[in-house]
Amino acid sequence: MMSSKQEIENILGKAQQAFVAIEKLGISKRVALMRAVASEIEAIGPELITTAQEESHLPEGRLVGEKGRTIFQWRSYADAVERGESLDASIDTAIPDRTPPKPDIRKTTVGLGPVTVFGASNFPFAFSTAGGDTASAIGAGCPVIVKVHPGHPKTSQIMADAITRAVQKSDFPEGTFSHVYCETYEEAQLLVSHPIIKAVGFTGSNKGGMALVEVANKRPDPIPVYAEMGSINPVFLLPEKMKAAASELAKQYVGSLTLGVGQFCTNPGIAIGVQSPELDQFIETFQDEIAKVSPAPMLNAGIAKGYKANREKLVAQSGVNVLAVASTEPSEGCGAATVATALGVDFLINDALQEEVFGPFALIIKCKDADEMLAVTEKLHGQLTATLLATGGDLAENPELIAVIQNKCGRIIFNNFPTGVEVCKSMHHGGPFPSSSNAQYTSVGPDSIKRFVRPLSFQNWPDEFLPEELKNSNPLGIWRTVNNELTKSAIG
Ligand code: NAP
Repeated sequence: MMSSKQEIENILGKAQQAFVAIEKLGISKRVALMRAVASEIEAIGPELITTAQEESHLPEGRLVGEKGRTIFQWRSYADAVERGESLDASIDTAIPDRTPPKPDIRKTTVGLGPVTVFGASNFPFAFSTAGGDTASAIGAGCPVIVKVHPGHPKTSQIMADAITRAVQKSDFPEGTFSHVYCETYEEAQLLVSHPIIKAVGFTGSNKGGMALVEVANKRPDPIPVYAEMGSINPVFLLPEKMKAAASELAKQYVGSLTLGVGQFCTNPGIAIGVQSPELDQFIETFQDEIAKVSPAPMLNAGIAKGYKANREKLVAQSGVNVLAVASTEPSEGCGAATVATALGVDFLINDALQEEVFGPFALIIKCKDADEMLAVTEKLHGQLTATLLATGGDLAENPELIAVIQNKCGRIIFNNFPTGVEVCKSMHHGGPFPSSSNAQYTSVGPDSIKRFVRPLSFQNWPDEFLPEELKNSNPLGIWRTVNNELTKSAIG
């Protein structure tokens, strides 16, 4: 059932009322709500998995794991809110006898206001309706309006019902969470342009993300759009490591590339190395491994069609040679793993070689020497991740290359593969443009809550009227920076 424009207006009005009410309810009730959402999701029966399987073609095991990850996100973000991490409370007490006198200044954060979430197709639980963007925005004290992803509407409804039950049981206002079906881009964009909305979370294509950034920037009061978009996640093949383990690395690489039919934003879509007998060996094993992979169903017909079209476009570029395609003829809706190569010199003159092909596709760039590898690296766009397959000796030998790589990505990986994204405080899932629209923030881990808050300073306020986190007695028992020292102690 689609939401009409009038329904959307009503939903946004309720979200605005809820925003004011949530602020008053305080931190501990918000934490309880987040834990209640986790429990409601945990209690959903097998229909969640079977529905998501039907809608996304993802295997049962993967979806069971993703459900656990989603529950963990709600619980661990709730723990972070309870610890006061996103409040970042700081207090500078008054020095009345200083010249001029220093007033009492205390800083905390408050929610931005109602947030619209555009979920991802490739994570129907962890990055969609009840996913990380929703959990982090609620953690920040913001009501959430989810734009239903058309790839999994029934799954989305099951998750929305779970959140709604938690909202009701926790005595939060109705507008705390809403679920909107949009028939047109115009309706979806109203969820970005409407004055009540104060921020947007998005995971998907570059085209979609940038369309929403444009809408947000055209508002009389532009708002942040945290868009996590495309990335080809380069893997750098360094010489000493290649000498030690070229074939083994190729096997591991193909495992990461083809996991989940390559439908991960951290899929390693490009490898870069210097021409050598070891690189030839790496390519040979890579080719053999790719040929063994059975084509598997992709998320939906549109994504399968997009994979095929983008792959054809890329391999039609000058200098690109297809080495291997998964050997079985793929049926409709399936993605066949593919590897191609090109020379560094071709990459340097053609931006099309770094277009994302969302699916199990890898391009291996063969550079003539270390200088060309550095030039290719400098040419790369911003990335979510970059991986070095290297020894300690390789790192010591290549400080300039490493410095360039660090400036290109949000996570730099040593002898591991990028496809697993751990949910924890030290994770940064984001990166320089165009991998995300704002490189300063992560969309995974409790720090993702910081996207939806803004700082607010209180000057000379009476203690009894300060928010709990800034009161002298520290009733929340959180870490605070008091006169430049991190402490849980009360003041005075
Ligand atoms: P998408 O096409 O970008 O759509 C994501 C969401 O944004 C959908 O709800 C979509 O609505 C909405 N949307 C897209 N363009 C819009 C516009 N101009 N105005 C208003 N709303 C808009 O992504 P997708 O459907 O999830 O997957 C398609 C492609 O995205 C993939 O082939 C892949 O390239 C990429 N992708 C990237 C990631 C990543 O993590 N970086 C993840 C998944 C997909 P409608 O569908 O209703 O149009």
